[in-house]
Amino acid sequence: MDGGRQRNCGDCTACCDGWLQIEVGGHEVRPHKPCPFRSDAGCAVYSERPEHPCRKFVCGWLVSSSPLPDWMRPDRADLILLAANFLWHGLPVDVAVAAGARPKPKALEWLMQFSAANQRPLIYQIGEDWFAFGPPAFQAEIAGRIQRGQKPWLE
Ligand code: SF4
Ligand code: SF4
Repeated sequence: MDGGRQRNCGDCTACCDGWLQIEVGGHEVRPHKPCPFRSDAGCAVYSERPEHPCRKFVCGWLVSSSPLPDWMRPDRADLILLAANFLWHGLPVDVAVAAGARPKPKALEWLMQFSAANQRPLIYQIGEDWFAFGPPAFQAEIAGRIQRGQKPWLE
């Protein structure tokens, strides 16, 4: 970690592109249905963008304490990390939402190594499917949630 680092989104628009299912000013945003205010030059209403979710949202790459390397910017790694999305038996669970068909394999490998080294169970998405990485009991619990049709993480 190198706390205090200031990153900016640059030309990443992954969280506006529909990979995270959000509602923006009454518009439903979901996969293959990006925010209607997203333009080729970024957010067309940037100075008036809503507080929620736009101004409040900080992905796991952008946050100043992020351990993620520069090359894992969401639009390059094809994943958006929701860090410490919830606690499992006191351990923070990270969630990697695919930004595209699937995360880049190199990025997923990095996250799994980080997860194992730091005791941070991981949930990740490939296509429409969700997978768990971490202690066997965690994997079993998440698999059970998925089998029951429950979303395995918190929106
Ligand atoms: S996904 Fe992260 S880096 Fe990309 S635009 Fe959203 S907050 Fe910025
Ligand atoms: S309003 Fe702008 S910042 Fe908010 S989701 Fe749409 S394009 Fe992104």
